Amino acid sequence: MQNLTVLGTGVLGSQIAFQAAYNGKDVVAYDLTDEILTKLEARWEYLKPLYLRDLPDATPEKLEAAVDRIRSSSDLADALSDADLVIEAVPEVLEIKRETWAKAGAVAPEKTIFATNSSTLLPSDIADASGRPEKFLALHFANEVWRQNTGEVMGHAGTDPQYADAVAQFAEEIGMVAIRLKKEQPGYIVNSLLVPLLTAASKLYARDVADFKVIDETWRKATGSPYGPFEIYDIVGMLTPYNLNANSQDPEMREFAAILKRDYIDKGRLGRATGKGFYDY
Ligand code: NAD
Repeated sequence: MQNLTVLGTGVLGSQIAFQAAYNGKDVVAYDLTDEILTKLEARWEYLKPLYLRDLPDATPEKLEAAVDRIRSSSDLADALSDADLVIEAVPEVLEIKRETWAKAGAVAPEKTIFATNSSTLLPSDIADASGRPEKFLALHFANEVWRQNTGEVMGHAGTDPQYADAVAQFAEEIGMVAIRLKKEQPGYIVNSLLVPLLTAASKLYARDVADFKVIDETWRKATGSPYGPFEIYDIVGMLTPYNLNANSQDPEMREFAAILKRDYIDKGRLGRATGKGFYDY
């Protein structure tokens, strides 16, 4: 598959578009308005130095060629007119997803395969809205797609496996490690493993069982993992766990969220991207 259309050009959509173009695909970046699309130039300028830093084969010429392979459009029918694959990265709101897919399904060519990058919704929550559930599945990226390069491929019960095969191949072609799930799983594989670890670490912290550095060191030494849970929180950033847990049913997780706000967020310690989180960088 050569022609990719990405729906939504925010944090993940812009990364997916750039990563595909960097790996030789022809990409159309779609968003709601031309005004939003003008921000893409700044997204590319943000991404280029990160590719140069992280990928040994990156050169300024390759990065320019990637930008040249991306065109943008705020006209959905135009954006989808020759798409082999659509990857949707619009906000994580079921109604927005379903509405977007209903519109896309109405205008996309017959050949087009549909993939959502949703982190928490299941393909079966959305597939029927697209009008072609057999061609609908999830291809889930992680933030910083060029180096956290997992592509979790997850269909729903009605997905025709040939389309999951095609999407897994596409993921490999754009530099991802394609990870195949045999059935639907909330959180896919990565978050099914990661969220319980981070939750357990948060509770040890909230109960004051040990210093966070001791918890991290224990995990690193005992498992050989390069990162402890609080180092992972620093990579994720403090706002995501705060938003997830501020209104949790679990009092210990609410307590953890309150600590995050008081001792970190309110002090500008938002995680590694800001130079300070649990640790100083
Ligand atoms: P974001 O808010 O940065 O970007 C969303 C984009 O969608 C914006 O450009 C917005 O203008 C656009 N948009 C809004 N409504 C739209 C519509 N109806 N049609 C087309 N575009 C529309 O969000 P994000 O962080 O990039 O997340 C997008 C998706 O990716 C979500 O499903 C999220 O779960 C998933 N995801 C995010 C991350 C992450 O770390 N941010 C990681 C993996 C997956």
